[in-house]
Amino acid sequence: MSNPFLTDRLQEFGTTIFTQMSALAVETNSVNLGQGFPDSDGPAEVAEAARRAIADGHNQYPPLPGIAPLREAVAEHRRRFRGQDFDPDGEVLVTAGATEALAAAMLALTGPGDEVVTFEPYYDSYAAGIALSGATRRVVTLQAPDWSFDPDALRAAFTPATKALLLNTPHNPTGKVFSRDEMMLIAELCCEHDIVAVTDEVYEHLVFDGEHIALATLPGMAERTLTVSSAGKIFSFTGWKIGWACGPAELVAAVRTAKQFLTFVSGAPFQHAVAVGLRLGDDFFDGYTAEMKAKRDRLCAGLAGTGLEVLVPEGTYFASCDIRSIGETNGIDFCLGLPERAGVVAVPTMVFYDDREAGAPIIRFAFCKKDEVLDEAVRRLGAGLA
Ligand code: PMP
Ligand code: GLN
Repeated sequence: MSNPFLTDRLQEFGTTIFTQMSALAVETNSVNLGQGFPDSDGPAEVAEAARRAIADGHNQYPPLPGIAPLREAVAEHRRRFRGQDFDPDGEVLVTAGATEALAAAMLALTGPGDEVVTFEPYYDSYAAGIALSGATRRVVTLQAPDWSFDPDALRAAFTPATKALLLNTPHNPTGKVFSRDEMMLIAELCCEHDIVAVTDEVYEHLVFDGEHIALATLPGMAERTLTVSSAGKIFSFTGWKIGWACGPAELVAAVRTAKQFLTFVSGAPFQHAVAVGLRLGDDFFDGYTAEMKAKRDRLCAGLAGTGLEVLVPEGTYFASCDIRSIGETNGIDFCLGLPERAGVVAVPTMVFYDDREAGAPIIRFAFCKKDEVLDEAVRRLGAGLA
């Protein structure tokens, strides 16, 4: 293996932390609040649309940019929820999940000698995408417990070599929803340094406090922003791997050029189903947010009762805890021991930091699970951590 990033990862984990922790959950028969996947399926009419698409013979390669009905539905969805305007022909690209959109964007838009500004903790595929393209990441730390960042540190992260900014809001793993003031500063810096922004908005329908702001809607940003989202998190079908990237035609064309040599295309019948999903009524979208907000409140209240210091998230379906409140300091050791100690799996967010010390005491629990599963996890933690 010649890519240093991949070599490091192979030595460190073998697989991603999510895969590793899910395997541990199975092995130890633990309640798995590690990897972020819902344990209930998404809307029945969307699943039915996928079955129908297969029965109707939509089973061969779809067009490279994605089927027209899905590109139209994505453009409609962005107009409906964010007031954005995209031409389904040329400004919308369907991808194999957000993961491919992000990796293809890094491969297409950055390379050796370029720098990409992002925040830490960062979703694991960001470091990978940047490294695979040969670029270097410049990381600004979100500081627990409120996940604020130093504006001067952000300013200083921009250099003459900066080529792109990679932003995730609502943010995994912290659950932070970037505020309007923070977004305005980010937008100003992108414009001042004339760089491309890639925004990962996969949790855009999981905002409980504050508001979701699409970076592309801020002044000067539409022409330089690639907006990424995914059906996995919107519809609780993470295994379908249907995502999309929207933006100016030349940015989308660049990403499409990289994408055609990664997967070319994927998920033909699921593309039909997601087109149906994106047109569901407000009752679905509002109901989904309300359901996850109730789960957030349920898990956070339960965790607080175990002695863990809970950092209540404003969005996403992840809640972080600081383990120093129970006398622990190293999240990796703690999470590796937790199945035996309590029969529960969580993710150590330390692995998403360059500044390992900053991330050491923080762990993440996913709450996109049935209420009885959340309750059982809390019961086990209560007993195991006592
Ligand atoms: N970005 C973030 C922040 C995520 O948490 C995830 C996991 N869903 C992804 C991207 C990847 O999304 P997908 O499964 O659509 O590739
Ligand atoms: N997005 C999921 C999470 O944050 C993980 C997906 C994966 O396993 N790559 O937990």
